[in-house]
Amino acid sequence: MSNFRFRCTECGSWYQEEEVRFVCSACTRHQQLGGVTRGVLEVVLDKLPSSWPAAPAASAKFLSAFLPIPSIAFLPPLPVGGTPLLEVPNLRRTLGMKRLWLKDDTRNPSGSTKDRASFLVVAKAREYGCETVAAASTGNAATALAAVAAASQLQAVVFIPASAPEAKLVQMLSYGAVVLPVEGTYDDAFELCLAACQEFGWYNRNTALNPFTIEGKKTAALEIAVDLAPECPDAVLVPTGDGVILSGVAKGFADLQRCGLILRMPRLIAVQPEGSAAIVNALRKGADTIITVPHATSVADSLVVQAPRNALQCLRVIRTSQGGGVTVSDDSIIKAIAELARHTGVFAEPAGAAALAGLRAALDEGLVDPDERVVMLVTGTGLKDVPSASRAVQRPAPIPPSLAAVAKRLRGLSEG
Ligand SMILES: [Zn+2]
Repeated sequence: MSNFRFRCTECGSWYQEEEVRFVCSACTRHQQLGGVTRGVLEVVLDKLPSSWPAAPAASAKFLSAFLPIPSIAFLPPLPVGGTPLLEVPNLRRTLGMKRLWLKDDTRNPSGSTKDRASFLVVAKAREYGCETVAAASTGNAATALAAVAAASQLQAVVFIPASAPEAKLVQMLSYGAVVLPVEGTYDDAFELCLAACQEFGWYNRNTALNPFTIEGKKTAALEIAVDLAPECPDAVLVPTGDGVILSGVAKGFADLQRCGLILRMPRLIAVQPEGSAAIVNALRKGADTIITVPHATSVADSLVVQAPRNALQCLRVIRTSQGGGVTVSDDSIIKAIAELARHTGVFAEPAGAAALAGLRAALDEGLVDPDERVVMLVTGTGLKDVPSASRAVQRPAPIPPSLAAVAKRLRGLSEG
């Protein structure tokens, strides 16, 4: 027995769970090959709690109050989320902000926020009796699916651009996924995965197309709200590629506002690389449609998309929240990896560190005031892409094993 219905984020049509699996059957008629996903569905729960559940935010009891699952028996045996909201005193001092927090999602099981989506998608796959779950991904979503599927004894099949970072590739292979590196872009992988799921009958975890990817990511917002209650952040910065993490975070805050556990929605601020900024470009133009970026590129591989699949919903929720968007250069992202690590102890991949680069840009542009309560979502660990991080540090030459050599090196360092 479902505890929710779907509502189309585009035309507002309602569906029972058994009527539809992925997107709105009316809006999908407008779908263009390689374009943004049309008719993305939103989960609307029949009932939300009127007070915070008396259990930790990542516990089954807490999740069953907020997620569209009929029983906790379907939850994968690999807990995700429950990541810390860090106070980052050194970074606060550096930026002149008194109320800045870092949501450290590098601490998820496979090292990224994508675990939250895979957790719910795999729970639904178990409920539906699906044995194989497939996904296209720039890397992290595939790794997350591989991890959660492995723990749940499901088979993961993942389509990734052949250029995905080595560490992500090795990680998903280690989890036992069938890995299909595609000679092409993430967008090519997305379309191929869609066709393969139709051909072979696999359950599709493609981001946004599967509505539970958005719903799963809302747990990040629930945790932020629990940790800051009874306060609420004024603004949340979210590194943005397809627009699903941001839409998921928005959904979490919207659910909490609906049930009265927070009084207002924080402003949501999308951070995109300059070379892959379709959503921020549309925001700046005041446009409702997306112009795709045919040769999207960035050091932040996780954010590189030609056609952000969840762009339409993402634009709407940013505007509803009175938020905005910023773009950041690859240089500023690389610098932010080292700055974030030195000031907070959090080692992030380029996409995760983009949150800090984006915060600096948002301060410069007046999108965020230094006195406000601000949360940065850091979405993935730096261990996923060490070559990019290595561009921000200098590897020291070896020294002989003697104290004299240590003293000489220290003198050299202090002389700068
Ligand atoms: Zn529709």
